[in-house]
Order: sequence, then structure tokens, then C-alpha cells
Amino acid sequence: MALPYKISTLLYCFDDRGRVLLMERAKEPNLGQWSPCGGKLQTATGESPWACACREAAEETGLALRAADLHLAGIISEHGYEGKAHWLMFLFEVKPQLRELPPPSREGRFAFFTPEEMAVLNLPQTDREMIWPQFWRHRGGFFAAHCRTHPDGHNDWTLEQADEEPNTAAETTSSAPAPTVERDGVTLPAPLIDLHSDDYFMGEALRLARRAEAAEEVPVGAVIVREGRIIARAFNQVELLNDATAHAEMLALTQAQETVGDWRLNDCTLFVTKEPCPMCAGALVHTRVGRVVFGASDPKAGAAGGAMNLLQFPTLNHRCAITAGVRAEEARALLRGFFAAQRGKGTVGSDG
Ligand SMILES: [Zn+2]
Repeated sequence: MALPYKISTLLYCFDDRGRVLLMERAKEPNLGQWSPCGGKLQTATGESPWACACREAAEETGLALRAADLHLAGIISEHGYEGKAHWLMFLFEVKPQLRELPPPSREGRFAFFTPEEMAVLNLPQTDREMIWPQFWRHRGGFFAAHCRTHPDGHNDWTLEQADEEPNTAAETTSSAPAPTVERDGVTLPAPLIDLHSDDYFMGEALRLARRAEAAEEVPVGAVIVREGRIIARAFNQVELLNDATAHAEMLALTQAQETVGDWRLNDCTLFVTKEPCPMCAGALVHTRVGRVVFGASDPKAGAAGGAMNLLQFPTLNHRCAITAGVRAEEARALLRGFFAAQRGKGTVGSDG
């Protein structure tokens, strides 16, 4: 079936403290979710993406921008979004900083967020799993990604181009002032979410997942990091131990508690190749893990926002920050390959 191709621009605006301007959408799509402002390109008038971004900036934020105030940060194409249309989206970082919060509009209300605060926000799935991680990774440079959406809620992503910021390749530094966070009424520097090291530690988790695969276990690997060092490593061992609770996360948590000498793991980050299941999410909340970073999302059974969000359940006494979609393609390829091989053998793999 032929679908229309729609074009939009999104504006990545910041304030003088490096916080991102987001809008809580009052309309579908993305009702109730926080996303950058922007809107549809007027295809009938043939306006350019830059002209569209300047017009949207004026309408939504009151900023009077010229094309030179914009940096094309990324291009996202989405194939068959909700089965209704294909979308082509131009992502612009707005160079001038905002001094105050724009007033609410019919489209929604605005707020500024630090990257740390964004970890616990309700973001659209595509933003959470790909667009924000790539935006931070290539900020000042450029990336292009294509998404094939599926009716069951999972997305296949292809990163088609990714360029580092000119002259600062491989550096994580940014000219923006460091984000801050309010704690007990005191303004403190926010812990920066370093996506380069997220990539690195997820690489270790992926290496463990491959060991699980070699042992004919569902390929999921996990590491726990404290003060920049790995203190626990594990892979799924359900078959070997004949124990349905022997998921990578559970084994890693036990090791980490032994290493730290405490069951409280507030200053630890767990990296796991697949979104945690409800059992593991429960254990992560009980051990008060500070942040959970995962690769492949699991729309059927994931408990970190995929099927449910136990890691940030409002009535529980601890919530974990979540970073999703780190090296997701590699994690997903491992899982897909494993289950295809199992089907080939006529055996049914248990869920890892
Ligand atoms: Zn689990």
C-alpha cells in the first residue's frame, strides 16, 4: 500500500545551563510524551527545511532565527509510522540559547531538562531508543538514521551516516556549560551521562552475551560498573544451572553485592544487552541500582518501559534511571540469530 511521505522539522533548543527545551504534547501523536518542539513542513508552499525550522521557532518559542542560527544535527526517516505515513524529519540544534521558558500553546507545555532528568521522562519510543542517544553522541556533528516500524511495536534501525563534531572527533567535551541538578535545595553539577563509556561497557556485556550463545544459552550478558570500574560480570546460565532465575542481571547483582559488601547498590550502573524482565527489574529496584543501561528493547516482556516500567514504578521506594538502546542493533542481532538457530533445531528456547 502506498503511504504519503510527510516532512517535519524538530528544534533542539537549550538554555544557558545546557538544559534541553522539551514540550509535553497535548495532542496525538505522542500525547503526554516529552519531545522537542517543531512541526510539519509546508510542502504546498515548497518551503525549505531551514525556513520551516525558523517559522516553527518563531511560532512556538518566540525566537527570531535565521538559517545561520541552525545546525542540522540529524535526519531521521521512519518507514510506515503507525501504518499511516512515512516521515522524514530534519533535526536542528538551535545555536542561540533561550533565556526563559516559552508560554504553553495548544500543542502543549514547555519545560527545561538536564540530560540526567531526561532519563526518567516519558519520551516517545523512537526518541528514547535511538534519536537522543545518537543526538548526544554526535552533538555538533551529524547523524542519519532510518527506522522501519512494525505493528508489534518493535523498530528496526539503520544508522546510515554518523559524523563526529569537526576538530573534536572522539572527544566527549562540549562547549555547552555543564548541566546542573537541584538536590536538597542546592545546585550541583549533574553527573554527565557519558555515552562513549556507555558504549564501552555495553561492549563488555555483549562479549558476555556471546559467551552465553557459545554455551547454547539465550545470549544475554550483563556487567555492573561502580566508579568507572566493572565489579561484576555475568551471562545468562538458565540451562547450565537448570535455574530459571539465573538471568545475567540476577547473577551480576549477587556478585556486585559481595564485592561492595552491601546489598545497596545506589552508586552502581548495570549494563545489560536486553531490556530486563519483571523478575530482574524487581531485583534491580530492591538492590537500589542507580542506573540501568540496556541494548535491545523487549516490547512483550520488558520491564524498563517496553511492556511495563517496573524500574520507575511510582509507588515503589526506589526508581532507577534508564538509558535505553545502547548498541541495540548488536544485541538484537545476537538474540535473533540465536532464536533462528533454535527454531532450525526444532527446540524452543526459554526466554532469557
Ligand atoms: Zn531477567
